[in-house]
Amino acid sequence: MCGYAGKFLEVNLSTMEIKEVRFSDEVLKDYVGGRGLAAKILWDRFGSRWETVDPLGSENLLLLLTGPLTGFFPGGRICVSGKSPQSNGVIGSTVGGEFGVELKCAGYDGIFVSGEAEKPVYLFIKDGDVEVRDASHIWGLDAKQTVAVLTRECRELLKKRFPQKGEWREPAILYIGPAGENKVRTAVVAAKWSHAAGYGGYGAVMGAKKLKAVVVKGTGPLPEVADMEAVKRLIQEVCNNAYESELWRRWGTGSGGYEVGAKSSSEPVRNWQDEWHDEKSFGVDQFENRVWVKQYWGDFGCPTTCLKLAVVRAGRFKGAITDNPDYELQAYVGTNLGIFTPEANVYMASVIDDLGLCGIQTGNVLGFAAELYQRGILTKEDLDGVELKWGDAEAFAVLAKKIAYREGVGDILAEGTYRAALKIGRLKGLDVMPYAVQVKGVGVGAHGIRSEKDYPEIYSYACSVQCGDHTSIACMPLDDSRSEHIRIFDDSGVICFFNTFGLPRALVFDFYKAVTGIELTKEEWVNTKAMKIIQLQRAMLLLGGPDLRWNPEIHDDNPPRFYEPLPSGPFKGKAVERARVDEEKRKYYELVGWDERGIPKSEVLRRLGLDDVDKALEKLR
Ligand code: SF4
Repeated sequence: MCGYAGKFLEVNLSTMEIKEVRFSDEVLKDYVGGRGLAAKILWDRFGSRWETVDPLGSENLLLLLTGPLTGFFPGGRICVSGKSPQSNGVIGSTVGGEFGVELKCAGYDGIFVSGEAEKPVYLFIKDGDVEVRDASHIWGLDAKQTVAVLTRECRELLKKRFPQKGEWREPAILYIGPAGENKVRTAVVAAKWSHAAGYGGYGAVMGAKKLKAVVVKGTGPLPEVADMEAVKRLIQEVCNNAYESELWRRWGTGSGGYEVGAKSSSEPVRNWQDEWHDEKSFGVDQFENRVWVKQYWGDFGCPTTCLKLAVVRAGRFKGAITDNPDYELQAYVGTNLGIFTPEANVYMASVIDDLGLCGIQTGNVLGFAAELYQRGILTKEDLDGVELKWGDAEAFAVLAKKIAYREGVGDILAEGTYRAALKIGRLKGLDVMPYAVQVKGVGVGAHGIRSEKDYPEIYSYACSVQCGDHTSIACMPLDDSRSEHIRIFDDSGVICFFNTFGLPRALVFDFYKAVTGIELTKEEWVNTKAMKIIQLQRAMLLLGGPDLRWNPEIHDDNPPRFYEPLPSGPFKGKAVERARVDEEKRKYYELVGWDERGIPKSEVLRRLGLDDVDKALEKLR
């Protein structure tokens, strides 16, 4: 089918069997690729025994999937998925970079990794040649070291094997840092220095498989498209649209560190005890003048160029370097920890990158620990001697390292906020869940709902099939541009949704048609295909297990903190009203075809052809 390389690679690290997998055109038409296809693959593999599959066991599948639009729609991404060690459901987590394009040029639409290696390994793919190579020498290395060693090693390998081709451009690499190796549930699958598939915790899944990295170099062309002239015209339209947003290209999301707090009152401040601040030291001008040494930098073929390179040139944090921070990192390893200077924020971001941790999930659990310390629930002794005061970047960095290596209290916090709250609650004989700002095991993105001035609605996280993920929120109507029904298309075609801002949605479906030849309308997508993917994700989320199960009557809810009034700022006193949440949830359930308890209805599943899902959910009804 046009737009697809036509085959996927499956590597079983227990048996070292390597094989190719193909899907029918019908499956690709229905599930597209990326997140949608991940839901289908995972359901078909594990289905009715979903609850028994340990996300950190050898049975879980790690999926690295492109979509038909990867390599064509400007901006490069790859979708990482599997059974999530955070939610125990399925999360489609995308990461920027060239990996997806290289993989398609190597002749594969995606990679499935099953089993568990006996010793650390990495996969090296050069077109049709696939090798499982020893990774003992890079196990334990941090992000920048891993990228440096693997880039050098694989370029030398290519040069030796293909001397007639001279010097090779660097291959694309997905890898884990120490956190992933230690199966930390907030570990990322990373690309470059700090690009990260963070939601889901798939770095821990890679670590459980002893898979340090996947390296790919493709020399073939991208797959055929249905209408090349239309593809070229549409690429130009996407680029023209991006070129109109000068500040967006210059700053990316980096103006948010000040503005989301100061203007919208929806930024996490000191573990969400507040969502407003007026710290001008955190303004975009401060980042631009003090730490950003490179701007207008983008992933493959991207006109938006939202990336930055930040370096601290003097002072306590001199030498810290990161390719960002973007808004989420400004917020979660900045304001959420009481840090309000670009230098300390860049330092924290570089520590988080190097350890292979997720800035959002780790910033969330660090903020949670700091609030427990503030309240005297966790003592200096509990924290292995760390005085965890707001704004002390060095103290937070020490704790982040403990998390990555599962040392002392870090072993508890490495389980992520929800599981850590359960454990600390048991140890202290106290309910600490009121301080855990998460939904179904996933720390919420840095966009609060109390002021109702940011884009998520008051039920958005509670009802999302990806839980606290700010890139996939529940919204009404279902075809709203913010809705996860729409975002699933971006995650399944596997494109960067930043490049869809300001574009009519019809243009994205035109792009899909130009690449694949398949006509698709927004209505058809939202009401049938996205709906099917949503039901699959919802079913696997509710089946959950083996360590935790979610009861939608309890867990389809906001973190308790969002029901507390905002303490300061222009929206002081504003809180989410539970009665309104319940009312909106009821409407959302009805729209999406779930019963009053939030379980997908039998007739809806059968209409969508998901009879086996219906059968598996009988035990929950
Ligand atoms: S908009 Fe930013 S994150 Fe998206 S592809 Fe472009 S550079 Fe990468």
